[in-house]
Amino acid sequence: MNIRVGFGFDVHQLVEGRDLWLGGIKIPNDVGLLGHSDADVLIHAICDALLGAANMRDIGYHFPDNSDDTLDMDSKIILKEVVGIIAQKGYRVGNVDATVCAERPKLNPHIPAMQQCMAQVMGVEPDCVSIKATTTEKIQIIMYLAKIKCLYFAVH
Ligand SMILES: [Zn+2]
Repeated sequence: MNIRVGFGFDVHQLVEGRDLWLGGIKIPNDVGLLGHSDADVLIHAICDALLGAANMRDIGYHFPDNSDDTLDMDSKIILKEVVGIIAQKGYRVGNVDATVCAERPKLNPHIPAMQQCMAQVMGVEPDCVSIKATTTEKIQIIMYLAKIKCLYFAVH
């Protein structure tokens, strides 16, 4: 069996007046992520990892952020399409392991729902979708970014 591994990373800014979509679910929060689509940073990073594993470019290549077609797009649709894109080369999702870096909100209570949601979209068992949450307090470079009044989500 040909097993390939990919890596994805994404960042979106937290702003007022936007819903917070993460892992395909809407999380109650006072701020949300800014972006052309629904800005689901976790799904975007996973899409890039899947595309990278298949060596099929990146999410921006397939879903340009200057296109009306992707404006306010539900990232679950992007994820489903990415699974279809890698299937063109005969690949399917084995397992996903992702880390979300965020100071707030607390994400652990939402992780089982995210796993269920994304597993269903990708057509795999929830046990194949690992999501971890961490804060960024020990990483100096991201602390620096936070100091310029932006909170970032980073996933890999
Ligand atoms: Zn993104």
